Amino acid sequence: MVRITKQEFKEMFNSKIYSIYAHSINEATNEQLQIVLSSVIKDIIAKYWVDNRLSTNKEVYYFSIEFLIGRQLKSNLLNLQIEEVIKEGLEDMGIDLDDLICAEKDPALGNGGLGRLAACFLDSMASLNISGHGYGIRYKYGLFEQKFINGYQVEVPDNWLLHEQYSWESIRPNKAVVVKFGGEVYLEEDNGRLKAKHHGYIPVMAMPYDIPIIGYDNDFINTLRLFKAEILNRDFGINTLYANTFTGSYEQALKYKYYTEEISQVLYPNDSNHAGKLLRLKQEYFLVSSGIQDIINKYRKNKFDILDFPKHIAIHINDTHPTLCIPELMRILLDEEGLSWEEAFDITKNTISYTNHTIMAEAMEKWPVDMMKELLPRIYMIIEEINKRYVEYLNHKYNDNEKIRRMSIICDNNINMANLSIIGSYSVNGVAKLHTEILKKEVLSDFYEDDPGKFNNKTNGIAHRRWLISCNEDLSNLITEHIGNIWKKDTEELKRLEDYKENRNFLKKLECIKIKNKTKLANFIAEEYGICINPESIYDVQIKRLHAYKRQLLNVLHILHLYHELLENPELDIVPRTFIFGAKAAPGYHLAKCIIKLINSVAEKINNDKSINNKIKVVFIENYGVSLAEKIIPSTDVSEQISTATKEASGTGNMKFMMNGAITLATLDGANVEIYDQVGEENIVIFGLKASQVLNYNKYGGYSSLDLYNSNFKIKRVVDDLVNGFIPNISKEGRVIYDSLITYNDEYFVLRDFENYIEAQSKIDTLYRDKEKWSKMCLINIANSGIFSSDRTISEYAKDIWFRGC
Ligand SMILES: *Cc1c(COP(=O)(O)O)cnc(C)c1O
Repeated sequence: MVRITKQEFKEMFNSKIYSIYAHSINEATNEQLQIVLSSVIKDIIAKYWVDNRLSTNKEVYYFSIEFLIGRQLKSNLLNLQIEEVIKEGLEDMGIDLDDLICAEKDPALGNGGLGRLAACFLDSMASLNISGHGYGIRYKYGLFEQKFINGYQVEVPDNWLLHEQYSWESIRPNKAVVVKFGGEVYLEEDNGRLKAKHHGYIPVMAMPYDIPIIGYDNDFINTLRLFKAEILNRDFGINTLYANTFTGSYEQALKYKYYTEEISQVLYPNDSNHAGKLLRLKQEYFLVSSGIQDIINKYRKNKFDILDFPKHIAIHINDTHPTLCIPELMRILLDEEGLSWEEAFDITKNTISYTNHTIMAEAMEKWPVDMMKELLPRIYMIIEEINKRYVEYLNHKYNDNEKIRRMSIICDNNINMANLSIIGSYSVNGVAKLHTEILKKEVLSDFYEDDPGKFNNKTNGIAHRRWLISCNEDLSNLITEHIGNIWKKDTEELKRLEDYKENRNFLKKLECIKIKNKTKLANFIAEEYGICINPESIYDVQIKRLHAYKRQLLNVLHILHLYHELLENPELDIVPRTFIFGAKAAPGYHLAKCIIKLINSVAEKINNDKSINNKIKVVFIENYGVSLAEKIIPSTDVSEQISTATKEASGTGNMKFMMNGAITLATLDGANVEIYDQVGEENIVIFGLKASQVLNYNKYGGYSSLDLYNSNFKIKRVVDDLVNGFIPNISKEGRVIYDSLITYNDEYFVLRDFENYIEAQSKIDTLYRDKEKWSKMCLINIANSGIFSSDRTISEYAKDIWFRGC
């Protein structure tokens, strides 16, 4: 047990503040105090956070181009179970712990769900005593900070590393490795076998920065290792340059410095869109090569037989961004360990497992052959050889050229990263039941038919410690008062809450907690935006990246519909509603940015229209991220999960809301299907096209948005609003959105689902009127959310993938 007394803590804190800042508590800002506190906690955990590399247990390495870890202070105190002591110790010194919790920077080293999933997985691996470490990039600038100016999204750089340091990290210069770019590779005769020799490359130093990942109440600490790209010699100077390309002048030296540092400069703000950039490929290889070299270095220290590699090491790739793990591991096994091709491929295939995150064609990574050849010549040779051998196998097995084209890694001068991931790994999983079925039957059906045993499902999950215990303390305490503590380690226990579903006293308490959380959010919104919202209104929330497939547009068109109904009949009896949005759009995604402008303009108009008597309000919260999600989710009544069926692989926001007692308003897409299975149809509101219908339309056509527009008055009314001046200041944006719906036949079936969505929304209104019944629905949602803990997900990864057969 990590143990510390209040007195010991105060002494540590006091001496630390002098050693870091050379001044007293009174002169310190909250930011400084938070840094001091983090540093004290790092000292407290130091002896538990040993490099556990010499352990004989199998280790898991989770590679991800994004980690959206959120603030760490509160979650670390919770997991160490020392929150009380620290809080009281600080109080003695006149410091409020909550102020320090809020003073911490929230590192935005990810775009959305994929990065947040990686963070939840780290939390669960540590909490389940699995040696599982993350590898990522220490971007100097994370996802941009979003500001609204005149309703438009404006992107500001996210300078989270102010003063070049992050309070939870520790630099490990002794573990730095060199990553090589460019140059030429020759195969030379060496002791009777061909050896690859790499000349004229540009060396980049990968400097590791470690962040402790603390397990819940188990003294188990893993590491998230983020690499920063640097010049080879940190004492930057002309004489120290190794790179042929840059030797010579001071100017050349500066170019070299720029070349290296650019690699970890900024996170790509694209979410589910393929960033076709040379720099992105550099980032991907930088992550992969740093991580694989680091693993190999440890492995060599352990002196295990290289042929036993898959017995000791599991490498997981989160989507295809780290797919180059496959040829990079091959490269080291072939060129450095001197193994045969067959041995190396066998080891690689038995070490690597892959998660697919999307079926959207534009998000499938492909790299031009020429780019790969020039930037990573040796890696390209290896990919080419894997492809050659695989195509031989296919030719032998099938007599179908089309099929072979679809399955090969290299086709039309592009390298298909999903295909490489499948071919070079032993396990491929989707992230929700429906998604995995679509992979097997549609998108990856050739591979599934070829090797069905490789495919499996792992429905996503969320760290219930952050997304319930820590962000909704009142609810967490209420649960513990009634069913005890065990649920914190075993969320299946939450089911016991169902015993209280007829208990009016309990239901009332649940309702009071929600009202309290809603009041807090109302105060926050009043302070930040000067908008007054009513805690008695339904909080109807859609927070997630802005993307056409997520259909924020459907939501805002329904708001316009309600608004028209109210204008026509000011006495219309509806429960007051507050529509809350939070969403960033990729800076180059024009349609998404138009939708942001539309929502802001609709909000402006509606919030200032006295004639509707405050019955509806619209709030678009700026700069959505983990910390805001933690504020908003506990106060939500209605969780909007309205993506076009088939498009949202899983979703995890949906799970966070459910666990906090919101009612899901959803299409049968992604993990919504499994939420539906858990709570039953009386405790969720479902609408819209089913996946099979969408797949049918996509294959055989038969949908005309124009016909719907012409035949349905309600649809025509709101679509016309986009272009007839009804909403001020959106003439350009309104036209772009109108065209996407009408001219381009509404790719995401917004209008097709509109009528159905209105009905579902009206059902919500009816249900909410019976407060007790609503509260009971909330209870059933919470009670059945246990399966969506990422502890369950990670146990499944461990059992079926990483430790299978162990
Ligand atoms: C959970 C989460 C997401 C994912 O939300 P979806 O609704 O599943 O897309 C995105 N961003 C943040 C900050 C999150 O916490």
